[in-house]
Amino acid sequence: MRLPTQLQTILGKAFEGQAPSKEECVYLLKVPEDAIEASAIKTVADAVTRQRFHNTGILLGQIGIETAPCSGNCGFCVFGKDHTNLPTGRLSLDEIRKRAQGFMAGGDLYALFLMTMHEFDLDWLLKVISDVRATMTSHTQIVVNIGDFDLAAARRLKDAGVSGAYHVCRLREGIDTSLSPDARKATLKVIKDAGMDLYYCCEPVGPEHSAEEMAEQIFVGFDYGCFQHAAMRRVYLSGAPLAHHGQLTERRLAQVVAVITLAALACPETQSIAVHEPNLLGLAAGANTVYAETGANPRDVELDTAGHRGADMAACRKMLYETGFTSLRRGDDAGISLDVEYLYQAP
Ligand code: SF4
Repeated sequence: MRLPTQLQTILGKAFEGQAPSKEECVYLLKVPEDAIEASAIKTVADAVTRQRFHNTGILLGQIGIETAPCSGNCGFCVFGKDHTNLPTGRLSLDEIRKRAQGFMAGGDLYALFLMTMHEFDLDWLLKVISDVRATMTSHTQIVVNIGDFDLAAARRLKDAGVSGAYHVCRLREGIDTSLSPDARKATLKVIKDAGMDLYYCCEPVGPEHSAEEMAEQIFVGFDYGCFQHAAMRRVYLSGAPLAHHGQLTERRLAQVVAVITLAALACPETQSIAVHEPNLLGLAAGANTVYAETGANPRDVELDTAGHRGADMAACRKMLYETGFTSLRRGDDAGISLDVEYLYQAP
């Protein structure tokens, strides 16, 4: 069996550390998920990640701290204001602290993510951050996943102890959402200008997205020097405006992860590749990072995703172990050996 010459050349160069161009990524994304060539792409991406990140995985945990009909109105999200059935609510400070402590119990959480709706109360968020920060181990960072914000807000967040922000100009932003792509990109710049880590993602990928539009959206993350790139599929939500498009398989999602992994070779700032939601195929195709989740989740009809769609820390840790990662990176960059003994003694 021989791989097509073009594929052999792209993968050979990537194995030597040279990233594929945007056009080459389009070619890689067009490979059918059931072709043996797709397996070759994933295998090379897996090897690239093991080498680049020294076979080290990262565990992250996100708490969705509030729910409301959201003005972002994303057609794939359970909170979109025109189709949501979920009530408005907030977790109490006590509850947020308790959930944060649960994520941190193993001592191996790289960063705690706090997620709000698109519109958020900055003063309340800052109060939550300072309250949680005061009870956290110093080796776990805080990252926000919130709506658009300006440089003044970014500086206040940073002063309160926030290290980074998850932010994305999504696939079909402004078409499948009510948000402005320019405003989303302005926030990407703000995050970088404030000196925070940018957590980006190719999301929410569905069967309707062409290879060309995916490649365009993926490269925006590199344009802004993302600390983390990732891929997330759109999860089928019955009744959501985009439900009729269906949902990708985890196998196809892993191929998208693999292409991002190879393309990220051109971005020296990238230190992590994630797959959402956590799964073994993505972690064997270039991803080295997964998120545990509790509280609100745009992909879940349950108000608390813990015990439902959201994986817990033990499940995420086990996935990293089972996919062969041999250490974990903490938020202070210290490494923890990930072996079977550690796995069984961790909470
Ligand atoms: S994905 Fe975020 S911005 Fe969009 S509707 Fe859901 S909560 Fe709002």
